Formats: sequence, structure tokens, C-alpha cells
Amino acid sequence: MIHIPKLLIEDVVEEHINEVLPYIVNGIKFFINIIVTIKNARLQCTLNELKVNLGVDKRRYIAELNCIRGSAHKVINIKHDTVIDFDNRKFNNYFISKIDLYHKFFKYLLKNNNKKLKQILKSEPYRLERIYDGLEWNFDEIFFVTNDEKKFVCDLLSIIFNYESVINNKSSKWNGYDLATRLDITVCPYCNRSYIFTVISRDKEIVRPEFDHFYCKSLYPIFSLSFYNLIPSCSICNKKKSNTDFLKKQKGLHPYYEGYGNNAFFTYEIKDLDTFEGEKEAVKVKLQINHDPDGKISINNKVFAISAIYEYHNDIVADLLYRGKTYTKSVIEDIVETLNNGESTKVSEEEVFNLIYNYSSDEDIPKRSLGKLHKDIVDRMKWDVSFFSSAHMSLSKK
Ligand SMILES: [Zn+2]
Repeated sequence: MIHIPKLLIEDVVEEHINEVLPYIVNGIKFFINIIVTIKNARLQCTLNELKVNLGVDKRRYIAELNCIRGSAHKVINIKHDTVIDFDNRKFNNYFISKIDLYHKFFKYLLKNNNKKLKQILKSEPYRLERIYDGLEWNFDEIFFVTNDEKKFVCDLLSIIFNYESVINNKSSKWNGYDLATRLDITVCPYCNRSYIFTVISRDKEIVRPEFDHFYCKSLYPIFSLSFYNLIPSCSICNKKKSNTDFLKKQKGLHPYYEGYGNNAFFTYEIKDLDTFEGEKEAVKVKLQINHDPDGKISINNKVFAISAIYEYHNDIVADLLYRGKTYTKSVIEDIVETLNNGESTKVSEEEVFNLIYNYSSDEDIPKRSLGKLHKDIVDRMKWDVSFFSSAHMSLSKK
């Protein structure tokens, strides 16, 4: 797990909110419209209760609602509207029976110039957890419900906070390509293995990262479009994490706030000396966790199977060890001397060392596939005097 410095993403937050906010507000207003229609129909029904056949009234208001539903495609761009089925048992039991509460909830999101809605969209991850607790507390009859009703609530919120229609929609004004291009994160922060850059060629969208929902959208659809909940990642990591509950069940590292840093690093175990001939079977790659007070690194390692996957990068480690044997300090000095012979531009020993060992600085790690693996292994090699007695390994020992 690699920490993506906040500096890289800061400008994008406001842009993202400005683009998705009107869309969500439209969705909420759409449901408020439905609620008002239902409430009006009910009012009429009560007034005429004694005179009018209730069945006729019911049909009339359902027709009116269906008319609103007919506009759903235009208003909130939904392709299927099974959730808003006015004759459906769930809609009657879970929505109409709590219609005043839903009305209050939607108005709460929009009041004071959409204040709560903006908080949902722009708050930092751990603040989102508190927002969710607040929603559960204030609207427990919507958020603390049976599993069947919860499914209904999630479907309903997924229509309003509609990730598919915004981010996954090529014709959306602000889709995943726009967001990914602005973020410009080129390597998956979860695994630091796969390149995830966005490619648009001749106005054609070719490839972009997937967006992992840090708080999964199946359980927390209200955060489906929240900026800090959209982590650009590779499809392997996105699938591995899937429905892992980082809000209620366990805590994970959030790449915009933390990474393994110096608390966990890759190291190796030499099985036999063939390693120095580049033999990958002779070396085992390991993730060593030094400091993990809240257990987030262990959870991250388990969820993304980092240790298990990196074991298969033993070829790279074996190759680095082989280079360690070959490119000794005196060899590097010879290379530098040859390169600088008679040239005005001077190459330093450190530059040559970094080139040979594919050694990244801390700032470059987020941009390089396996950057942390290379850096950690070479750092370990520098210290491993028992295997690397040649003095060059102390070249940039810190
Ligand atoms: Zn990944």
C-alpha cells in the first residue's frame, strides 16, 4: 500500500463536487416530487373518503406517480426502475409507510444550500464514518432496518448517488475518465504493481483505472460518489477488496492518508547461494511488518494478499541480488569514470547506482510499478554485510 500525497489530489476535490452535486440534487428532488404527489393524493383521499371509491383514487394517484416515473430516465438517467415500482410490496411497506421520514431525510440533505450533501461528497474518510453514525442516529428507521429493507434502502440510495450513471457512463459530463485524468495516479496504490494510467487517444477513451469504493458501495451507497471514497486502482485489487466492510467491520489503510511507509517493508530470505546467480527459487520475498498498532497494515496485507502475491516477484529480487554481486563499488567507479571521461556533463556514482538497481526515491515510489519492492530490497542489501562485503553497498546507506 502506497501513500498518495494529498498535494496531488487537492485541486480535484472541488471540481469533482461541483460536477456531481447537481446530478444528486436532481435525484433527491425527483424523490421529493414523488413524496409530495403521494402525500397530496392521500390528502384528497381523506377529504373525499366518504364519497369516493378508494380503488379509483388509488388508481388515479398511481397513474400520476407512473407519469413521474416515466420522467425518471431523463431526470436521473436510470435504465431500470424496479425500485420505484408503486405497486410493489417493498415500495409500499418500506417507502410509503415511512413517507414522512423519507421526506424529512431528503430535505435534511438539501437544507442550507445542500450542506449535508456537500459534507457527504467532500469529507475525508474518517469523517465520513462519523457522518454515517449521525445518519443512523437521526434516521434509524431508514438505516437500522432488517436485511430485506436494507436492500431496498441501498437500491433507492444507489439511484440517487448513481455511480453507474455518472462515473461509469461514457456520455456523462464528468465520468471516470475525467476524474482519473485529473487525479493522474499512474500506479495502483493498493498493490504498487499495475499501471493504471488513463489513455485517451484522438478523443477516444481507451483505458482508465477502476475506482474502488473504500467504503463499499453495496453497503454504503450514500458514499458512492464521495470523492475520498473513490480510489483509482487496478481491477485485481478492486475485485479482491470487493465488499470488504472498512467502515463497520475492520479498518483499512486509506491511500490518500497512509501507506506502509517505514512501518512495513519487503525483505528477502536467502535459501541457498544460487541466489547470487539470479536463481529465483533460491530466494523468498517477505513482507515484514515492524509497527502496526491499529492492525491496519495486517488487514491490508490480508485483503489484498500482498505477501502472497509478492512471493511471485522473487525473480526481481534474485536479479537485484545478482546485480549486487556483479556491480561492485569498483565496477560502478569504473563506469562513472568512463562516462565522465572528457564530457562536460558529470554523472555521479549515485545516479549510476540508482540506474543499475532501479532504485526509487520515496517521492517516485507511487509512480513506479514495484517501486517500493525495489527500494526496500536494495535498502536491505545495503545493510546485509554478511552477503555483500563489497564496500559499494554502503554507497548511499542512510
Ligand atoms: Zn492493484
